[in-house]
Amino acid sequence: MARTVVVTGSTSGIGLGIAKAFAAEGANLVINGFGPADEIEAARHALEAHGGKAIYHGADMTKPAEIADLIAAAEKTFGGLDVLVNNAGIQHVSPVEDFPIDKWDQIIAINLTSSFHTIRAAMPGMKAKKAGRIINVASAHALVASPFKSAYVAAKHGILGLTKSVALEVAEFGVTINAICPGYVLTPLVEKQIPDTAKARGITEAEVKSDVMLRLQATKEFVAIEEVAAVALFLASDAARQITGTHISIDGGWTAQ
Ligand code: NAD
Repeated sequence: MARTVVVTGSTSGIGLGIAKAFAAEGANLVINGFGPADEIEAARHALEAHGGKAIYHGADMTKPAEIADLIAAAEKTFGGLDVLVNNAGIQHVSPVEDFPIDKWDQIIAINLTSSFHTIRAAMPGMKAKKAGRIINVASAHALVASPFKSAYVAAKHGILGLTKSVALEVAEFGVTINAICPGYVLTPLVEKQIPDTAKARGITEAEVKSDVMLRLQATKEFVAIEEVAAVALFLASDAARQITGTHISIDGGWTAQ
């Protein structure tokens, strides 16, 4: 039977790539995120090319009631939820003393607290079925820091703590929960921060790519969206059933140093 997969923040970038990878295996998908309605509808339609069904839910990841409704819609439409991918995320780059308070709150809400809400809503169903896979898209910034990203680094470090704690709670219920820690992947989220990073550091945009983003990535290459999606598929596979409460880095060697 086709698995049901929820991917938050899947109208773009890594989330859309993960949704595509599960769809290619015939899974039913619930996609989520912002963007032009016609583009979202085209993405949703394309996800159905392999035989699974795809629905869109527009829950705002800063709104707990909307997040609960997203999980309820997945369970109601498809009769249960097999894989939850917490991926929605935003970034803001600024020295800490100038960091806008509303941006701090938004980043903590979307990049950390929304995963608490999705997990909280999905867990009763997963426990009852004695099966479930939760995959949190964290970051190399869950393990190491960079300056000017205080909220993002705090949220991503937090998601690893959430991953470990929940893993211990649900391990005997057939539910695993892990994080993926990518290095830099060239998505809209990264493209948008290039001008701000250039400004904050007083360097050119080309230097941001070569001297900041890829400086610590030993391969000197961006990670591909499809490579992150392949790790998500693996963590959701039978082969990964004893992997829980941990992370897999996919960062071109960044955090080896
Ligand atoms: P992206 O900007 O391409 O996609 C982000 C997605 O989140 C979009 O679908 C957007 O609509 C959605 N989103 C944003 N705010 C939302 C909200 N309030 N409610 C619902 N959806 C919302 O970014 P991406 O690079 O694909 O990032 C995806 C995840 O991967 C994030 O958690 C990010 O921190 C993480 N990540 C990215 C990189 C990278 O280099 N791109 C590296 C490590 C980790």
